[in-house]
Amino acid sequence: MAVLTSAPRGTQDLLPDISGKWRFAEEKLLETAALYGFREIRTPVFEHTELFQRGVGDTTDVVQKEMYTFQDKGGRSVTLRPEGTAGVVRAALQHGLLGGALPLRCCYLIPCFRYEKPQAGRLREFHQFGAEVFGPSSPDADAELIAFCAALFERLGITGLSLHINSIGCPACRRRYHEALRAFLAERADRLCGTCRERMEKNPMRVLDCKSPVCQEAVTGAPVMLDYLCEECAGHFSGLRERLDMLGIAYTVDPKIVRGLDYYTKTVFEFVSGAIGAQGTVLGGGRYDGLVEELGGSPTPALGFAMGIERLVMQMESSGCAFPEDRLYDIYLAGMGGAGRREALRLCGDLRQEGVRAGCDCMDRSVKAQMKYADKTGALYAAVLGESELEAGECTLKSLRGGEARTVRLEGLADTVRTLLDENKN
Ligand code: ATP
Ligand code: MG
Repeated sequence: MAVLTSAPRGTQDLLPDISGKWRFAEEKLLETAALYGFREIRTPVFEHTELFQRGVGDTTDVVQKEMYTFQDKGGRSVTLRPEGTAGVVRAALQHGLLGGALPLRCCYLIPCFRYEKPQAGRLREFHQFGAEVFGPSSPDADAELIAFCAALFERLGITGLSLHINSIGCPACRRRYHEALRAFLAERADRLCGTCRERMEKNPMRVLDCKSPVCQEAVTGAPVMLDYLCEECAGHFSGLRERLDMLGIAYTVDPKIVRGLDYYTKTVFEFVSGAIGAQGTVLGGGRYDGLVEELGGSPTPALGFAMGIERLVMQMESSGCAFPEDRLYDIYLAGMGGAGRREALRLCGDLRQEGVRAGCDCMDRSVKAQMKYADKTGALYAAVLGESELEAGECTLKSLRGGEARTVRLEGLADTVRTLLDENKN
């Protein structure tokens, strides 16, 4: 039955051959996050459906079209998280984290779920690294957050991304903009998709973000939020630009960025790639000063971003990043005869204690077949352990990568191999 041997549409297996690339990326992300004062938070994979309706916004594509919502056996409506921010805010409120020392900075590495049309870089189960900052209202925080994103890419060896920034104002200045946008859209209503015709009254900015080609076409020449910013929002935006210039971070102002989630205010930004196909936005983020209050907390300025790990790894590959080799074995010990095989097993334990990736046979293979297998796995070294080696107390350490063979003592083998590996690292 095909359903037993094929994964659901839009999901992806991360196979052992490439999981090392992901782990490398994830470790670097968390390590860099720590340098910027972010610690990890883990929240549940599913939450009450209302959290996302309120937190993401019920006129967004995510809520209207993309959520995995179901009733559990107790009759409650729950939703697999489509994004990470709402859950983080919920947790911060539930545990009173916003009453503690601010700013609160936290980050997460999570699977997310959206019912979308699967294509390259767009999946139904995908993964995000995200970070949130609660407390600061100054553009210092926006600039530092963007600098953090730039550092993440730099430390991963990623090139070829461009930073686009925009401001989508605050509820006060947006009111005037919405009027202008509604008037613009009203003239073109017959050219919009069904969803947009419905939501253009309540939330006209969502039309600008609609993926439907008819809507994208219809909104060319629409008024842009930047022309409507109030004094405070305009000051915040120029403050951000000054700081980015000071930090030497290159950017383009892109008045078309509005972001797909309702909670953004003021700064929005994206890191975009030209090298990974149509789904080129690797990272998106911004300020969401209204969200904490929307979810029942006291007004708390906040900002954050999320990047897609699938798109990140695609970009790493296209940038020719140096992924560390994730080989199965540093050394393979081929046992010959009962005593040799037992010694191989025992020595493997010693080697692993020294942090060496070691392996020996458990398939009852001949020595020749064991050596062939070692070669196939890409092991660095191999040695045969038979009666004569045990008697002599030494074995021949063969390099499987074209280096010289050498005779080494069995006693202290783990130390010897450890030293060899450390020397070859440099
Ligand atoms: P897009 O415009 O591509 O739909 P979005 O605005 O919906 O993106 P966000 O909600 O901002 O995306 O999510 C942040 C990041 O998560 C995106 O920039 C992208 O890298 C990644 N992402 C979002 N949706 C998907 C998906 N369905 N599959 C893979 N990655 C995704
Ligand atoms: Mg989307």
